Amino acid sequence: MRLVRTIPEVRSAIADARRAGKIIGFVPTMGFLHEGHLSLMHRAREECGYVVVSLFVNPLQFNEPGDLARYPRDEARDAAMTEGAGVDLLFAPEAPALYPEGFSTSVTVSGVSEPLEGVTRGIGHFQGVATVVTKLFGIVAPDRAYFGQKDAQQALVIRRLVRDLDLPVDVRVLPTVREPDGLAMSSRNSLLAAGDRARAVALSRALFAAERAIQDGERNPERALAPGRAILDGAGIEPEYFVAVGAETLQTLARLGGEVLLTIAASVGGIRLIDNVPVSVP
Ligand code: AMP
Repeated sequence: MRLVRTIPEVRSAIADARRAGKIIGFVPTMGFLHEGHLSLMHRAREECGYVVVSLFVNPLQFNEPGDLARYPRDEARDAAMTEGAGVDLLFAPEAPALYPEGFSTSVTVSGVSEPLEGVTRGIGHFQGVATVVTKLFGIVAPDRAYFGQKDAQQALVIRRLVRDLDLPVDVRVLPTVREPDGLAMSSRNSLLAAGDRARAVALSRALFAAERAIQDGERNPERALAPGRAILDGAGIEPEYFVAVGAETLQTLARLGGEVLLTIAASVGGIRLIDNVPVSVP
């Protein structure tokens, strides 16, 4: 595996791979890698001849300076993990390489960016995501790019971006990888104090309880969510949102049907966590 920090190095490594006839697979990350990230790399390794991972804590997508400052980082560990996953190229730029002085472009995806995370983190969050992903797609020019269902709204924003701008990238979204107790893996989990880590399992339990209610035939959204709300109350967690929405539109539903996304955001001991479970409702 090669580790590079500049755009010309990425372009030249990829040009060589492309000349050799290889399909380029790409996994963008903010590092502090875990099994969720590795699942994307393993899939890319299976499906592509040349695998590129980016490691960049993108300042544009952080709405709170404190959240950016304390975001966990460990490049040496990440490099060892990507190497272990059989990645060919690790692109770990410094911020000025991506955002030199005078940088003044922003990509806005309206519609799917606006509810849920768009309300609580502000419009700038997905603008930051869409801008960095557009840049990274321009730099790497991947044939396939891999994202996690864990960030369901982000995946929708990227699919919309790729469709609307005719970017020649095949976007693949893979299932959420969880800890044995159900907590969705996240770099932010490392910031949870022990007691909060134990309480955080209530998020996935609440989602699974709502999923079970739907599977048992409940079609009223509030009634389906009620057992989940009870679990959150029991753990002393007040969610920012805990809702059932259309999986493609992210709009709330009067009655549950079709592809539904159960989704939650909550702060646990000051650490903001998100999770979701997609449900196909017959
Ligand atoms: P991040 O480093 O948090 O920006 O995540 C990089 C990519 O990994 C994104 O596409 C995420 O959706 C994905 N990802 C993060 N956590 C998980 C998880 N638990 N399971 C699957 N994919 C994940």
